[in-house]
Amino acid sequence: MNLNSPSIMRPSFIEVNLNNLRHNLELIRKHTDDRPVMAVVKANAYGHGLLKVAQFYEKLGVNCLGVALLEEGIRLRESGITLPVVVFGGVSVQQIPEYLEWNLEFFVSSPEVLRLAEKICKSCKQQATVHLKLDTGMGRIGIGAEDSASFIEEAVRAKHIMVKGVCSHLACADDPENPLTLKQVERFLRAVSVFERLGAEMPLRHLANSGGVLYFPESHLDMIRPGILLYGVYPEATSPHVMEVRPALQLKSQVSFHKSVPSGFSVSYGSTWTSKSSAEISTVPLGYGDGYRRQLSNRGEVLIRGKRRTIAGRVCMDQFMINCENEPNDAGEEVVLIGLQKDRCITVEELSVWAETIPYEILTNLNERLPRIYSNE
Ligand SMILES: *Cc1c(COP(=O)(O)O)cnc(C)c1O
Repeated sequence: MNLNSPSIMRPSFIEVNLNNLRHNLELIRKHTDDRPVMAVVKANAYGHGLLKVAQFYEKLGVNCLGVALLEEGIRLRESGITLPVVVFGGVSVQQIPEYLEWNLEFFVSSPEVLRLAEKICKSCKQQATVHLKLDTGMGRIGIGAEDSASFIEEAVRAKHIMVKGVCSHLACADDPENPLTLKQVERFLRAVSVFERLGAEMPLRHLANSGGVLYFPESHLDMIRPGILLYGVYPEATSPHVMEVRPALQLKSQVSFHKSVPSGFSVSYGSTWTSKSSAEISTVPLGYGDGYRRQLSNRGEVLIRGKRRTIAGRVCMDQFMINCENEPNDAGEEVVLIGLQKDRCITVEELSVWAETIPYEILTNLNERLPRIYSNE
């Protein structure tokens, strides 16, 4: 029995509109003069479902896929993806043979990893395809851009290392006013000029995450690496909108239980909500165990019968309650937690404000307990 079949699956689910992914990719391409795209699909494609989304991007002709972990890369290969796949995270050296085995490209961020990779490749007579990671201001991984000349030279000379790309990561690009981004671009360009001095072919230079794509054309260079923007969501609730991307993900459920309560009735753990007059209370079968954050307790809103309603009491692991004021519901009534109902909409950006976090965390928290269905392929 397949409980993921739409007729019998649980009534709390994610719906991904693939046509919106296509629309967003087209907009991003237009905005960047058709720059080659590394579509970022780490963390289960930002909650949208790794394999289905990756296969769709492959069909749309993106140039490569970006993931954070070796394991994510292997899942892509096992599912038959043949596009180049680049793994961003710091490489654990004991895993280097697996990158070769699965034909995965990786970021090399230190001379130590470079030397070990060269040694391992030499002993098994293979060549690794890598992207040199420079730190221009993120302060996470990567060799400092100012001190990268000898690292770059060593990589260029390593016989079993193919330097396909050179890259860095932007720390503040979601704020168009932040002066760090252009400084990062400058530091990066200065560092990569070493390739010319060495007479080596310039590899693909890539720098732009979604913020870079949106606000800093100087960062687009030879390839862009958008993540969240591809999914139709801006990096922050306050990010200025400069292109009309469409959110691809909706989170929906159905009323599982309804009751009319008198004044003075308390709801959920800790009895943090008590009715001030008689009220209509509906229960929704989804909770923080699905990644719907507990910080939304007593403040998050949902759509029901085309109206915004507020969460009453604490969000539980598998359920929460909503205050429908004076409008009763029947079990089975549709509840939209993210997305559209009638002419109303609740966005991921709004949830991030209510939960005092960022849109990335709202999306990537939505976990495997929620079935995903796909439309408009
Ligand atoms: C996650 C990630 C991206 C994509 O970031 P967005 O802000 O989602 O566009 C790009 N590059 C690297 C190295 C990343 O880790």
